[in-house]
Amino acid sequence: MIDKELDQQIEEVADLIVASDRIISFTGAGVSTESGIPDFRGPGGIWTKYDPDDFTIQKFLSDKAVRKKHWELLTNSDLKMTGAEPNPAHYAIAELEKMGKLYGVITQNVDGLHQKAGVSENIVFQLHGDMSHAKCLRCGTRYPMEEMAERVNQGIEEPTCDHCGGILKPDAVFFGEQLPLDVLMESERRSRTCDLCIVLGSSLVVFPAAKIPIYAMRSGAKLIIINVGPTELDEVAHIRIQGKAGEVTPRIIARVKEKMGRK
Ligand code: NAD
Repeated sequence: MIDKELDQQIEEVADLIVASDRIISFTGAGVSTESGIPDFRGPGGIWTKYDPDDFTIQKFLSDKAVRKKHWELLTNSDLKMTGAEPNPAHYAIAELEKMGKLYGVITQNVDGLHQKAGVSENIVFQLHGDMSHAKCLRCGTRYPMEEMAERVNQGIEEPTCDHCGGILKPDAVFFGEQLPLDVLMESERRSRTCDLCIVLGSSLVVFPAAKIPIYAMRSGAKLIIINVGPTELDEVAHIRIQGKAGEVTPRIIARVKEKMGRK
């Protein structure tokens, strides 16, 4: 993109942010690629190496060998998310909360990096769950993923619950599982009542998550999309920026601060 065009777009987005006070940031895997976590569908994405069919809840529950393979992949391969750090895009979103403008981060990500960047837990809505913990399917006890990784590295092929011996499952939503209803409903409510929706790093092809920016737009909010590749809503976005979230977003926030006379 020509620099001048990008500068102009950054200026327009900054003006919209200044004029808004209920901003939703809707994020996908692309916001975390600059933290070293691959996305699903980008070049080098997870689905270029693994078969999505291996990640269904049905296979996980029915076959011990599948669970063993999962634990090995989730703790020792590029699917591993423990140890990743937020990047400038996550911190830029956190700045919106400090300005009193952030109405919610609605994310498809399971990496916990928004919270790690400082966004309050109670306004992060993780539609696809949370990979930072594993949960016992029988008694509900939660365990940090780091602890699971340690167990797998010590040679335990399938960690089980210390309390009841139940099956442990990463607390992310697997294919074939329902999204957490309370999170989904609150995300819908906020998207229908926000005044600006900023999409960062999502191809917007995964439903029902991708309905969030649609609800926002239908309720009169402006839609901004910042993404490297094409998205399903490119044609209808008010502003569509082609670029890396970790590069563009901090520039936008810097302009907002200048316009608002903040440091
Ligand atoms: P996706 O893989 O379908 O799309 C990611 C998009 O981000 C692509 O269009 C890509 O071009 C773009 N992108 C990549 N790097 C970018 C960057 N630096 N800046 C801006 N854009 C960038 O991901 P999705 O839309 O989130 O949907 C797929 C599913 O991926 C979700 O269900 C989510 O749960 C899961 N997922 C999550 C993580 C994570 O938690 N970090 C990682 C991989 C997949």
